[in-house]
Amino acid sequence: MKATRHGAHLVKLTRLGAVNCYLVRESDGFTLVDTSMPGSADAILAAAREAVGQIRRILLTHAHGDHVGSLAALREQLPDAEVLISERDARFLRGDKSLDPGEPQAKLRGSYPEVDVEPTRLLKPGDQVGSLELVPTPGHTPGHASFRDARDGTLIAGDAFQTLGGIAVSGKIKPLFPLPALSTWHKPTALESARTLREMQPSRLAVGHGRVVESPTAAMDDAIAEAS
Ligand SMILES: [Zn+2]
Repeated sequence: MKATRHGAHLVKLTRLGAVNCYLVRESDGFTLVDTSMPGSADAILAAAREAVGQIRRILLTHAHGDHVGSLAALREQLPDAEVLISERDARFLRGDKSLDPGEPQAKLRGSYPEVDVEPTRLLKPGDQVGSLELVPTPGHTPGHASFRDARDGTLIAGDAFQTLGGIAVSGKIKPLFPLPALSTWHKPTALESARTLREMQPSRLAVGHGRVVESPTAAMDDAIAEAS
């Protein structure tokens, strides 16, 4: 896995040049945001050792297979770590693919693997995990969550945006890397969430697929305009 540092607190771990997860440094060790594809656990643990910290928490942006793929394997090796995910997307981990009456009745897309790991805490809008604040960003999945680092304005946006193949709002197809768009549940909701993130004036945008963008607001404006 390729590790790159961004600012004082963020390390991006990339598998196959396409799938990211993140180590966020806190005073007690790391919060791991997402777990990449299956088979990534040993590489993630090695990266945390190299960056000199223990993974204390595993925090998930959403329940797609390329984000929860190594959750079970990591859990086995980190029995004391907290496991946190939005209340809504936690249902997918249990194999419950039902939609709520108030939600757009659109087809669920992408892989939602069942994972035999019980989250230690189910997150709601505004919840705080260490320095990270949960920002609800539904659209890519019904319970998709982004996380804002209160220390420096870094936004970890999961698949609400992608930057691989060009910056895009979730649901807008980028021919060089169409996968996130093809696995997006409801595009109008995703676009609304993208606007919410833009309004937060992030200093840095870190996504599930593609590079980290510094001072990203102009690029986010372009992506939102393109998707509108
Ligand atoms: Zn993804």
